[in-house]
Amino acid sequence: MVRTFKRGGVHPPEHKQLTERKPIETLPLPKRVVIPMAQCLGAPAEPTVKPKDAVKAGQRIGEPKGFVSTPVHASISGTVKKVDLYPTAVGARILSVEIESDGKDEWVEGIDLESREVDFTRPDDFLPALTDAGLVGMGGAAFPTHVKLKPPKDVKVDTLILNGAECEPYLTADHRLMLERAPEIALGLQILMAVLKVDRAYVGIEDNKPDAAATMRQALAGTLGVEVAVCRTRYPQGAEKQLIKSLTGREVPPGKLPMHVGCVVQNVGTAFAAFEAVARHKPLVERVLTVSGRAIREPKNLRVRIGTPLSDLVAFCGGAADDLRKLIFGGPMMGKALRFEDVPIVKSTSGILFFDREEAAAVREFPCIRCGRCVAACPQGLVPCDLGDQAEHGQYAGFADALDCVECGSCQFTCPAHRRLVHLLRLGKSEFRRLQKKG
Ligand code: SF4
Ligand code: SF4
Repeated sequence: MVRTFKRGGVHPPEHKQLTERKPIETLPLPKRVVIPMAQCLGAPAEPTVKPKDAVKAGQRIGEPKGFVSTPVHASISGTVKKVDLYPTAVGARILSVEIESDGKDEWVEGIDLESREVDFTRPDDFLPALTDAGLVGMGGAAFPTHVKLKPPKDVKVDTLILNGAECEPYLTADHRLMLERAPEIALGLQILMAVLKVDRAYVGIEDNKPDAAATMRQALAGTLGVEVAVCRTRYPQGAEKQLIKSLTGREVPPGKLPMHVGCVVQNVGTAFAAFEAVARHKPLVERVLTVSGRAIREPKNLRVRIGTPLSDLVAFCGGAADDLRKLIFGGPMMGKALRFEDVPIVKSTSGILFFDREEAAAVREFPCIRCGRCVAACPQGLVPCDLGDQAEHGQYAGFADALDCVECGSCQFTCPAHRRLVHLLRLGKSEFRRLQKKG
């Protein structure tokens, strides 16, 4: 049975053929890394190292500040050069630690990069291990994993959903990870189930990745309570609320979170990182991402140390083409367009896209023609054309109901007038919140 959500959704061209058959390659060790202290959707970490300090890979270099915050670790061994403000993809000037490599790649004692042992008789050790490892959601949101895994006492979670939908065009890192690391992801899933104390889980995969579904099924054969569920390829299938609806039939009410309908959603990359945190005591210091688009000479799926400068990836992928017009961190629907700057890879970087003139074609915006396509495309049942009008006129009162907008971009994708609806929705939401705080 192929599952899907009921309302809205669009079918953008996939462009996954550029990298979906390309095995994950490991980027050579960078000569230097710049590691931002703000890498999660929460309080930034506080640096605990200073210039000239020697560090090893996996060593903690940033302490979390509060519960909704994660520690940050060195991704290479070497010497701290500077602790300063650096440009990053997550903010213009973020406090970061720059480390110069000693070329030795020495790891902190206690990390076993080869271990595959998970002691399921000690489930109480799992959550502290995931917290210490600085895990965040790897699908792009970067919400601290340990917070999601510790719902309030009055909330009953009964289902874990592993998100392998990867519905954004171009991105294939999760697809490759499922093909190449299915047994580790399966163990990671069981670790997450043990932390949540649930006996039911789904792995949601779009039907454009039948090989990944087959591989995950094989890896999970005999695991009680787990179903690998194939979903229709339809954007935004991988948005949490849409995936929950597709797999369980449950509808997350406006203003509520997945846990309020008994679900926790984690990305397949996060499950792999959970396996490494528990079995190898390895913190989150590297990730798999996709480098793609027609303006990069050799698109690839890469395993990259956190903090690696973008220029290292560009060089490894044969360089950027002359007609590079647009650089996007993330996917084309929800990612962030950046000007070309040598920013570091962070925990939430799921992909980097290099668009040529055609892919980046800037289109002229026209007035709304009231065609209603954006309304039909919105998976959250909103009326994006009206919300866009209100934001344009500085009227934000109507945005109370729009806070559930998942910023998926389906409305904008389908708009024949090319209105910048996502920008207007983001503006309206943030202004509404600001005015609410002001009282
Ligand atoms: S960006 Fe928001 S308003 Fe537009 S389709 Fe997605 S959820 Fe609906
Ligand atoms: S899709 Fe665009 S033109 Fe059509 S109603 Fe929505 S905003 Fe207006």
